[in-house]
Amino acid sequence: MHADAPLPASFRSGVRPMIFETLASTGHEEVVFCHNKDAGLKAIIAIHNTVLGPALGGLRMWPYKTEQDALNDVLRLSRGMTYKAAVSGLNLGGGKGVIIGDPSKDKSEALFRAFGRYVNSLNGRYITAEDVGIDVNDMEWVLKETDFVTGVHQVHGGSGDPSPFTAYGTLQGLMATLNAKFGNEEVGKYSYAVQGVGHVGMEYVKLLREHGAKVFVTDINKDSVQRCVDEFGCEAVSLDDIYDVDADVYSPCALGGTVNHSTIPRFKFKAICGAANNQLATEDCGDEVERRGIIYAPDYAVNAGGLMNVSLEIDGYNRERAMRMMRTIYHNLGKIFAISKRDNIPSYKAADRMAEERIQTIGKIRLPHMGNGAPRFLGRMRGLG
Ligand code: NAD
Repeated sequence: MHADAPLPASFRSGVRPMIFETLASTGHEEVVFCHNKDAGLKAIIAIHNTVLGPALGGLRMWPYKTEQDALNDVLRLSRGMTYKAAVSGLNLGGGKGVIIGDPSKDKSEALFRAFGRYVNSLNGRYITAEDVGIDVNDMEWVLKETDFVTGVHQVHGGSGDPSPFTAYGTLQGLMATLNAKFGNEEVGKYSYAVQGVGHVGMEYVKLLREHGAKVFVTDINKDSVQRCVDEFGCEAVSLDDIYDVDADVYSPCALGGTVNHSTIPRFKFKAICGAANNQLATEDCGDEVERRGIIYAPDYAVNAGGLMNVSLEIDGYNRERAMRMMRTIYHNLGKIFAISKRDNIPSYKAADRMAEERIQTIGKIRLPHMGNGAPRFLGRMRGLG
């Protein structure tokens, strides 16, 4: 297009750009729109907050209906990553990337390398990883253009499948939840309704059964359910009946939004603790479960094992360190429940408060992370020496 050519109608007078108003309300630092016509790349990288460290968050590829949908998603997800990292005691900020496209037909080497070049241009302010629609092979292309990638294959120093770590972390969160509710953390003493026995759920069920717990399972995948029955001795229930099971703990390990106004009245559960993201359909569901005396373990604190695991790739991955780190989830949950009691607020609000308090406190002693530009200055200082 010629430099003097008129902009599209939507850019001309009468249309108010809303982006900065949105960013002011969400608190984002930076949003990068990445475009490469030849590679077919239309991507957005959102950096929410880097007070604690570089913004780490996965790359999602999705056939968004509109560009606004893609922007909304990346803003929401990147903000969530800030809270997850902060509450988990990680020195990381929150960021996320989205590519607008259909993962089943729009993938190419050029697409991911073009995206990788944008990640590299951010000089370490954003570190990418896998998310929905992206696999380890796509990341190998990104890796050709930038080192700011985690979740790569083990042969490149990656950490591999995070699911067993997430499951182990969920068990740590569960123990803290039992302790807060019943005053003991004897996993085997209680019964569980587990929704979704995929990568994380299957490992989690295995751990519960190792503790001798009574476990009910459901999944749309009948083979997975059968495996839980045959190999681990679980009891199968139908998809919808999971909400009515007379068990102590509900563990959502499939989809988000299953703690909602139609399921809550059916609950006989005394606690909710699982690996799924966004378990509360709306915030007032968090108030409602609290009102009913059901303790809720905030999802992003419980399922932080995956993030913890990839975060270790930044300094050089070490499995033993990863397992140690998963155990901190127990203490993080304990702190959340203590804040909930201290401030007389529901646990989901206490988790947000804990994250915000940490960002504020550390923010006072650290400047925002500005990328890895230090070597240039170090060189200069060496020259002075
Ligand atoms: P997955 O796709 O391997 O497993 C999900 C399982 O849920 C599948 O077996 C699927 O058949 C089942 N399912 C889907 N809809 C269902 C329904 N309506 N009722 C019952 N079962 C249903 O995914 P995963 O990696 O095990 O992740 C599970 C959840 O944990 C997701 O919400 C994910 O975002 C979250 N999570 C996963 C990780 C990780 O390390 N994999 C980390 C953090 C959070």
